[in-house]
Amino acid sequence: VLASLPRQDRHKPKSGPVRPSKVSRKRAYVLIGVHVAIGLHFLHWGVTGQTITPVEPSEAMQTLELGRVNAGFLLFVTLIASTLVFGRWFCGWGCHLVALQDLCAWMLGKIGLKPRPVRSRLLVLAPFVVAFYMFAWPQVADLIFSRPPRPEWEMHLFTNDLWQTFPKWIMAPVSVLLLGFLIVWWLGAKGFCTHGCPYGAVFAITDRFAPMRIKVTDACDACGHCTTACSSNVRVHEEVAKHGMIVDPGCMKCFDCVSVCPKEALYFGAAVPKPFAVSQQRIQARADFTWPEEIALAGIAVWAAQFAFREVWFGEHVPFLLSVGLGVLTAVFALLGWRLVSRSAVTFQHTVLKADGRFTRAGRFGVLGVGLWLLFAVHTCVGKTWRGMAIEAATEPLSAVLLKRGTMPREQVDAAVAKAPAALASVDGALAWDLVDDPDLLTLRGLLLFVLGRHVEAEAALWVALGDREGLSEPTANVVLAQYCMDRTRQRYEDARRLLQYTVRVHGNQVAASLLEQLQARPK
Ligand code: SF4
Ligand code: SF4
Repeated sequence: VLASLPRQDRHKPKSGPVRPSKVSRKRAYVLIGVHVAIGLHFLHWGVTGQTITPVEPSEAMQTLELGRVNAGFLLFVTLIASTLVFGRWFCGWGCHLVALQDLCAWMLGKIGLKPRPVRSRLLVLAPFVVAFYMFAWPQVADLIFSRPPRPEWEMHLFTNDLWQTFPKWIMAPVSVLLLGFLIVWWLGAKGFCTHGCPYGAVFAITDRFAPMRIKVTDACDACGHCTTACSSNVRVHEEVAKHGMIVDPGCMKCFDCVSVCPKEALYFGAAVPKPFAVSQQRIQARADFTWPEEIALAGIAVWAAQFAFREVWFGEHVPFLLSVGLGVLTAVFALLGWRLVSRSAVTFQHTVLKADGRFTRAGRFGVLGVGLWLLFAVHTCVGKTWRGMAIEAATEPLSAVLLKRGTMPREQVDAAVAKAPAALASVDGALAWDLVDDPDLLTLRGLLLFVLGRHVEAEAALWVALGDREGLSEPTANVVLAQYCMDRTRQRYEDARRLLQYTVRVHGNQVAASLLEQLQARPK
């Protein structure tokens, strides 16, 4: 018997091939409609300049942290209330990430890759930990650290900048590649829902209390077609046999199981919920990993999510949930790598990687791929740590010269400036380590050169940091660059105006506003 990464083998249906689901096409149309609605939202913003705040549950964090009641918060509350009645329906019918995962699973299926779920007792808790961290921890931390009270609650239903709380565009293809294809291929068809999504965790908890459930009649003959059709890995035939209904909170009410049942034995109806029943999926998962492996998986996932991938790459900053997905992937890769090294036989996702102590051809690619990924994760972690140290080293000299000049004694300013060469060396080191130049580090480099009076290099560095963007993320850097442009030897007044307008608009910077006034008062 080949050792393998744990997985749930697909239930083999007893009575012939499973008929196609009649609901899946309808659900695909609904999910396409969701994306059309998202597109129309952006179009409305583009045409009118103002629109409704993002209709996205993650916006609820703004409400909890800043007291701003926005459209996303109202949506989230509404969805939780409806889940309490109808169960976890939104994931299957309204979530763009489920649409992405379903699409990727379908496309992988077309090239012969049928992902199997990887099962863990601890990694499946990740969504609940993330949900606590996002929605409950800010309140708990307020109490523990006696923070000052939040601002009063205020309505924030309209915005002039729809993109303000979203990551930059580059994260879209990165998310499709990593949260779509890679996670689906390696962790199963609902890999991100199972191992990373905090909204799914909230819906899963409320689903347990919902009175509307998928139930079964006496016509069921335990053929297992329903389980085979379920892309959420619910063991439908076992659950209905045991409980008379589906109790697994992973069920997204897609109704594929209802549609494929040859006996028409499944239906959606009222039932007395069993909130504390353990799903068959969890019961089957109990023997998947040993406890030391579980603990190692959890530790590596936390390390990779928090200390390697969070807020890295391109200066665009990997968003938190993407870093959670990458953390879980890294943990599974690490375990696979360990098994490839330590076991004489390993199979993963239908593929034999090692047998009788010898690597197969696929196994050699597997070792290479896993090794490269782990190297990449360690490299990213080192780069992130170095970046943090460089930013810290640069803070004192930059703050003394750019923000506090005139308010600090001369000796303190001189002492801070004396630290600028070391800070510059640290920034240069971090930039040399990065695979792709981080615009924030390039900006710091330009500002440190400015502090050191190396103006020609400073100006060149800031232009490199700016690239083809409208302005830099650091307002003082825009002001410094605008001042270079306004110099009599440069006379790049249009560039200066553009930079200052950006800084006033995005950062509300007063220095930029007064420079802009000077620029506009300048005789033609
Ligand atoms: S519910 Fe239908 S598809 Fe599922 S095991 Fe019973 S008869 Fe088969
Ligand atoms: S159990 Fe049925 S309704 Fe629930 S996710 Fe699976 S196929 Fe869809």
